[in-house]
Amino acid sequence: MSKEKFPNLFKPLDLGFTTIANRSLMGSMHTGLEETKDGYNKMAAYLGERAAGGVGIIVTGGISPNREGWVKPFSARMSKSSHAKKHRVITDRVHEYESKICMQILHAGRYAYHPFNVAPSALKAPITPFKPREMSESSIQSTIEDFVTSAALAREAGYDGVEIMGSEGYLINEFISAQTNRREDEWGGAYENRIRFPLEIVRKTRERVGDDFILIFRLSMLDLVPKGSDWQEIVQLAQELEKAGVSLLNTGIGWHEARIPTIATMVPRAAFTWVTKKLKGEVGIPLVTTNRINMPSVAEEVLARGDADMVSMARPFLADAELIKKAAEGREDEINTCIACNQACLDHVFDNKLTSCLVNPRACHETELNFIPTDAPKNIAVVGAGPAGLTAATLAAQRGHKVVLFEADSKIGGQFNMAKEIPGKEEFRETIRYYQTRLDLTGVDVRLGHKVDARELSNGDFDEVIIATGVTPRKTGIPGEDRDNVYTYIDVLKHKKVPGKRVAIIGAGGIGFDMAVYLSAGESDIDSSTREFLEKWGIDPENEVRGGIDGIAPGHTRSDRQITVFQRSKGKVGSRLGKTTGWVHRMELRQKDVQFIANVQYDKIDDAGLHYTSGGQQRLLEVDNVVICAGQNTEHQLADELKAANVKVHIIGGASKAAELDAKRAINEAAYLAAAL
Ligand code: FAD
Ligand code: NAP
Ligand code: SF4
Repeated sequence: MSKEKFPNLFKPLDLGFTTIANRSLMGSMHTGLEETKDGYNKMAAYLGERAAGGVGIIVTGGISPNREGWVKPFSARMSKSSHAKKHRVITDRVHEYESKICMQILHAGRYAYHPFNVAPSALKAPITPFKPREMSESSIQSTIEDFVTSAALAREAGYDGVEIMGSEGYLINEFISAQTNRREDEWGGAYENRIRFPLEIVRKTRERVGDDFILIFRLSMLDLVPKGSDWQEIVQLAQELEKAGVSLLNTGIGWHEARIPTIATMVPRAAFTWVTKKLKGEVGIPLVTTNRINMPSVAEEVLARGDADMVSMARPFLADAELIKKAAEGREDEINTCIACNQACLDHVFDNKLTSCLVNPRACHETELNFIPTDAPKNIAVVGAGPAGLTAATLAAQRGHKVVLFEADSKIGGQFNMAKEIPGKEEFRETIRYYQTRLDLTGVDVRLGHKVDARELSNGDFDEVIIATGVTPRKTGIPGEDRDNVYTYIDVLKHKKVPGKRVAIIGAGGIGFDMAVYLSAGESDIDSSTREFLEKWGIDPENEVRGGIDGIAPGHTRSDRQITVFQRSKGKVGSRLGKTTGWVHRMELRQKDVQFIANVQYDKIDDAGLHYTSGGQQRLLEVDNVVICAGQNTEHQLADELKAANVKVHIIGGASKAAELDAKRAINEAAYLAAAL
């Protein structure tokens, strides 16, 4: 099996002056590399690997055309020849392969996180604290000129083209929407005036860079904000952009301030490609579609259906640089699939940390994390086949060590076997599939159903032992916690105990929230179809109304269960969930009428339910079951016994520290250990 399995994906795309090798585009992602020490060399390594992996076009993270357009202070900018020179190392590296590379020009407008931000009107965005300054006529003209200069400099730097960022609610989008553009001059008012800004940028850019330079425009085709564009306006702008000289139209879905998830894991795969399809036939230039396309088979299906001419995947290229190459070689089962968790990519951007990937910690760390073949092979035992043990075992074996992996359970995956049961987390199955393939390919000796002890591990068969035994659920000490009406999350998710209609969940961390999602789910929440997803979030499946949402009520279905989630600490329940996904979980659960109670003390559990104290008053919540999701502890016995027997031991993941454990840390620790063995 090879390229024939994906005939549409591997069809070259002829743009007249240049040909793209296949129909994949690596979508723009801010990584933070641009702003780190030696960042351009690191970026060359990171993007060079994606080019070696066969992607058609790479679009870089957003680069500002001027200071006002910075996403945050001192973000990368392309406005002088000295800036262009720094990019040479990137374009040269990518051009060692067949891929093309375009630089994205992004002016953040009112979303900019600094006090010099500007916008068509002085209206603060709900997601930044900085009120923008209204642009004057001369500031509009100079900003257009800055876009054009930036594109010309990108050409000087060796880029094959630029992408002009016209969506997600940034400056250009702010000019287009009447909601954010309240101007009364020739740049505001009627739609023709509001689209003058993007059209001038494109027209003047095309004039300056010539005909043989790729010009992509990212067009917001579904704003998902009140009073956004309607469909006729989107078509009109697309047609004008084509006339102004755009070579490819990329799809933008949702402004950043939209309160609808567009890329998180509960969004079904390819849930928005129908939006791009609606534009087919309205313009002659190729269209790129996007959002939650994470495997070649999904891309192929989208292209075969005729939804678009190219597919954009962004995070999937963080998860696996060789995604396209593996598809071409019939090795789809070897692809490390992006599970859309956002934990190491988008959440890192919002925390001002370098981007990486939960399932692939090498992403953006290509110059420092490498798995070089060993010249001193060792016999290594790995205990536990959760994410930490699987990563350590497969990478150590890949390097040439002889690895035996012991797992007490009858299958690999550890806690991911529970995570994948949560509606909306179906993608976690892919990670288990990926590791299974890696175990087979690297020749790890896997011993399932084998709870190993210190005696067996210290019998001299192993030079080193890696303990990746994970965690045990915390005992809370609440009187009554051992009663029959009290379950742990493991009882429910692994042993399939079914709580009654009235449930109290103790603990509001990631697992407490997941438990609330699991127990409140209806049939339409499990492996949701696109239609069910659109209905649930109130999106017009015809995309006719303004912003795709005006006048449409979300259709979340109430849960059959009455669920209450408790935490002892003060403050907002769920405040420690991921920055880019926590709000989605909170909204979803509120729609299902799940109750949240913070700042409590637990008194006891009995037949009547959960007794607790809140605001100085003793209360009772009558429930059928209490489900405990109160975090975990670490057992040190195995490690202690092995150390006492003078065995060289490494401890990773939950086995090393239960506090703040997640799969990102477990996999990361395992990868760095495997590289150093
Ligand atoms: P584990 O996954 O716990 O694996 C340890 C393994 O060791 C187990 O398979 C166990 O059977 C085995 N073992 C133990 N003792 C022995 C022995 N003596 N011999 C042989 N085998 C042994 N994390 C995230 O980052 N994002 C999420 O969205 C997320 N969602 C989650 C949802 C749920 C419902 C749950 C339960 C967890 C979730 N997590 C999530 C947490 C994540 O799964 C854990 O942090 C991660 O699995 C820890 O990895 P680990 O390898 O250290 O341990
Ligand atoms: P957690 O996030 O640490 O949450 C534990 C919860 O239990 C907290 O709400 C805590 O709140 C409560 N608690 C702690 N000690 C308690 C005690 N003695 N008695 C009663 N309540 C107690 O742990 P988790 O939910 O088990 O999650 C484990 C890990 O998996 C976390 O690192 C999490 O990030 C990760 N995970 C992530 C996701 C995701 O979507 N990103 C999903 C699931 C899990 P109070 O102390 O305020 O009561
Ligand atoms: Fe995908 Fe999660 Fe990796 Fe981001 S961190 S690229 S969402 S798997």
